[in-house]
Amino acid sequence: MNLKYPFLDLGRVNEPYADEMVAAAERVIRSGRYIGGPEIEAFESDLSSYTGAPFAVGVSNGLDALRLILRAYKEMGVLSDGDEVIYPANTYIASVLAISDAGLTPVAVDIDERTMNIDTGLLEQALTERTRAIMTVHLYGRVAWDDTLVDVARRHGLKVIEDCAQALGARTLYSGFHESHHAGALGDAAGISFYPTKNVGALGDAGAVLTHDEELARTVRALANYGSDRRYHNLYRGFNCRLDPIQAAMLRVKLPHLNSENADRFARALAYRRTIDRRDIVLPLMTNEVNDCVWHQYVIRVPADRRESFMRQMENEGIGTDIHYAVPPHRQLCYASLVHGPLPVTERIADEIVSLPIGTGISVADAAEIGSVINGLDF
Ligand SMILES: *Cc1c(COP(=O)(O)O)cnc(C)c1O
Repeated sequence: MNLKYPFLDLGRVNEPYADEMVAAAERVIRSGRYIGGPEIEAFESDLSSYTGAPFAVGVSNGLDALRLILRAYKEMGVLSDGDEVIYPANTYIASVLAISDAGLTPVAVDIDERTMNIDTGLLEQALTERTRAIMTVHLYGRVAWDDTLVDVARRHGLKVIEDCAQALGARTLYSGFHESHHAGALGDAAGISFYPTKNVGALGDAGAVLTHDEELARTVRALANYGSDRRYHNLYRGFNCRLDPIQAAMLRVKLPHLNSENADRFARALAYRRTIDRRDIVLPLMTNEVNDCVWHQYVIRVPADRRESFMRQMENEGIGTDIHYAVPPHRQLCYASLVHGPLPVTERIADEIVSLPIGTGISVADAAEIGSVINGLDF
């Protein structure tokens, strides 16, 4: 169905950059360097200066970024098989896949209904003698970081890994472990995704690892390159998880525009906030903190028993919607054997959430128009 306001139109997202991308692609094609090389080095350096994380390693995608961090910690002797890693129950499955892939045990913690991110007040009671790390996920673009998280991590000697797939460009007033207040540079290491729908999207799969730890960066880089630190010398049983130079070249075109893209997302979120006025719809939190959310998704909540009707009527009005995510990871078949405590907030909101269009495809006026349509719906 051809919608007036599709949920996300990636062609339109990339249209403003198309000429520059074509030129960048031609540069790579003519360079003869298709693995590693100057495009990768330049992009890694751009990412590192943008976030303030001193080390950036381009990798194949966001899931691999997280997998490589955890595998690297195992090679370094920081983590071992069966160690527990805490993660927020409301997340994309990739966060959890990375943990189980590394032979570690994912431990779900429920979320705070206001932020939709991990409820840091529940961290302490989720700890066991096997807890070694927390994976905090900046879901929907909102930084999941506060003093409680830092305090629990410090007191118990836990590593903090940020799943920053949705939040590049977000910042927080809270202190990280280091000077930067940028998402991706707050904790010990972060995984970034440049999947095409993310705030900075490549033309295919791409990702990066950010860290302040030189040894971790070196280990991740080797693991992503067959476990080899120099040609034909293999320190680890590694993988092939490198970032392609052609994608790095595309990302170099788009990264300089991230702040302005994120500002546009904020303007659309504000238009929704100012327009939508219904007692049966809960809008996402908007704080006075600047940039604590980069609005990767704009997720509202409607009564569970009327969600289907809401989405159907929106489609009839020509407005695309989506659900992020319809089934939380602990409810997936592949994690049927995963042991977890009660996760009431995640369970409840999973049936209520609906994402509205927030990407470049719609203007601020469109968002206001969509908001008015929502006010008039009888769903
Ligand atoms: C997109 C995403 C990932 C995975 O990134 P890919 O590049 O698609 O592998 C991980 N975590 C979250 C929260 C994501 O949104």
